[in-house]
Amino acid sequence: MKPSFFDLTYDELKTLLKEKGFSPFGATQIFDWVYKKGVYDPFKWTNVSKASQQYFSETYDLSLLKVVWNGLSKDGTRKFLVKMSDGQTVESVAIPARDRLTLCISSQVGCAVGCTFCHTATQGLKRHLKTSEVVLQFVTIQNWLKETVGVEEKITNIVYMGQGEPLHNFENMKKATLVFMNEKGLGLGQRRITLSTSGLVPAIEKMAQDFPPVNIALSLHSARNDVRTELMPINKVYDLERLFKAIKMIPLKAHRRITYEYLLIEGMNDSMDDVIALSGLLNSKESKINLIPFNEFPGSKYKRPSEQKIMWFLDQMIKRGFTCTIRTTKGSDILAACGQLKSEFEKLNLWDGNSQVIIPSIASTVLQNQAL
Ligand code: SF4
Repeated sequence: MKPSFFDLTYDELKTLLKEKGFSPFGATQIFDWVYKKGVYDPFKWTNVSKASQQYFSETYDLSLLKVVWNGLSKDGTRKFLVKMSDGQTVESVAIPARDRLTLCISSQVGCAVGCTFCHTATQGLKRHLKTSEVVLQFVTIQNWLKETVGVEEKITNIVYMGQGEPLHNFENMKKATLVFMNEKGLGLGQRRITLSTSGLVPAIEKMAQDFPPVNIALSLHSARNDVRTELMPINKVYDLERLFKAIKMIPLKAHRRITYEYLLIEGMNDSMDDVIALSGLLNSKESKINLIPFNEFPGSKYKRPSEQKIMWFLDQMIKRGFTCTIRTTKGSDILAACGQLKSEFEKLNLWDGNSQVIIPSIASTVLQNQAL
């Protein structure tokens, strides 16, 4: 099998061209064709030498991922199930908001972290995604939107908040980020990319030295070790003290503020004790708190707090000087909680591995019937 072109960073492409006796300046043209113009046939790269066209056509795979299902929520969120060359699938979600279109990207097939509130955790870790499979979620969906919805549908932001723990797949996520940020290609600025982590301390320490300076979101969910351990077993290994030591190593000049994701769960982390612990742990000037009312899924043991309780928690944090917002649940009518779609397909045997026609029709009926 040929290697994927989308595994190459700009610098690697330049080195490769040099090694093969082509002009390294060709990297600029090739990145332009692939990432700016969306032309994936090397023989159409008209300002590139015939010999390098031939070389890339023979040596590299420039195919995109297969979109095997997509669902459009009434709030405009569009969820995709994409298939990779080994038949594994992951989810990506395009979320529109005001002047931006954010793509939520997966980093692994399944996840090893085992958060007790998360649907993806029930699948365990199957494998890391390759650099190309991360990059191709963007390229494939951008291309799909252009062809299906229209040119104005441009992805402007990326969040690594899909399936998987991105820092567990450090090198591939780093390389994919370099591809996303390269000005000769997609040119996404550092403020347009957000990496969300569950708190893998050694990788956070490494990240402070050796990762492009993107926004950081930490899945905190509790400022009390006992509660956090119950929600996120990773806290047993890297408790809040160790975690915050590592977080302090991240240079805040580039990141301005760190976002703390806080899933609000009824009776678990929504009391006054939790408010006091949270405001004691975080620095109000360097933090932004994103409250996420729990999105219940079939079989989940946790409950979403009442609207009144959610507003009370928000108010308490604002009163204590924090920038605190509530993240509205997007796309709940299309199973947008991470990992839900893939599992439901597998459970109901809707996913036969290659059908692109039957699945959407059956799935939409099932979704309409609220049978999931
Ligand atoms: S919440 Fe994220 S880190 Fe935790 S199990 Fe789910 S995918 Fe993994």
